[in-house]
Amino acid sequence: MTGSPHTPSRDALAYAASRLVRNSAEFGSAPALAEGGPDARLVLMAGDTVILRADPAETGTALLTPDEAGRAGERAVEIYLGRVEGRPVFAGAVPGEAALLFPAPGYRALDLRALAAEGAVVREEQGLIATAKSVLAWHARHRFCANCGSPTTIAASGFRRECGSCGLHHFPRTDPVAIMLVRRGESCLLGRSRHFKPGMYSCLAGFIEPGETVEDAVRRETREETGIAVGAVAYHASQPWPFPASLMIGCVAEGLSEAIRTDPDELDDARWLTRAEVAQMIAGTHPEGLTVPPPTAIAHLLMRDWVDGVIGAAPAPGV
Ligand SMILES: [Zn+2]
Repeated sequence: MTGSPHTPSRDALAYAASRLVRNSAEFGSAPALAEGGPDARLVLMAGDTVILRADPAETGTALLTPDEAGRAGERAVEIYLGRVEGRPVFAGAVPGEAALLFPAPGYRALDLRALAAEGAVVREEQGLIATAKSVLAWHARHRFCANCGSPTTIAASGFRRECGSCGLHHFPRTDPVAIMLVRRGESCLLGRSRHFKPGMYSCLAGFIEPGETVEDAVRRETREETGIAVGAVAYHASQPWPFPASLMIGCVAEGLSEAIRTDPDELDDARWLTRAEVAQMIAGTHPEGLTVPPPTAIAHLLMRDWVDGVIGAAPAPGV
């Protein structure tokens, strides 16, 4: 797989930029904000929401000072993410109702979808918050060993849990999802699932299964959902998707057939749309009112880069 050049459409992608310098060896089995000194910062999650300092005169930030963190009370779990511009950054989780600990003006609790949609923090902080949310969600669900059922403890600054009974090491998981723009000549294949808002079409996508290559997952998902056969597959871009811990792997794929047979369990509808139509959908001017996901989503980036010609010509048959 080879990457593609940076394009303006990548600047809008949610959760994909981060200035975090990771070092899971730095705090070992006892990562704690109190060990980080006065320059340390804490990303505080309350359930699925992150607490922001949101002074109207400034861009919001999730990097709370030790004094601010002290107001949140005891964290159920605290981990060390790494350094941002030299500062040690930790992440902690408190029960959902603890968002009420910050009722003062200037603080907000936002879920990560709203955070990205509003641009509530600078882009580079979205990736940091996504890391915090995914790892903390994993800790919340892995307090006991999946092998023997004994309690596990934090290691590697929070990027591992260890079982004191059977000795097994457990690591935070990332769930890979293939998302693909399938093209054929001047058209691409888009679908809509039942929960999409009316008129919205997007790229097909699905979880990669154990023992499967990214390329084969693209071919299988496309065939299962639409009956379309797929040939060559090329990687284009990726996006962390912290709900709770997916990685969207964006690909461009060559469609080998045209007749669509939609799986009604998977999709409401699927259709071939021309490059001119997709350009109208992106611009919000399609005559049928068809739309695409917002620029924060990798599906939008795949469509936009295809419309703009950033994605190269189809390879010769058989490649
Ligand atoms: Zn065990």
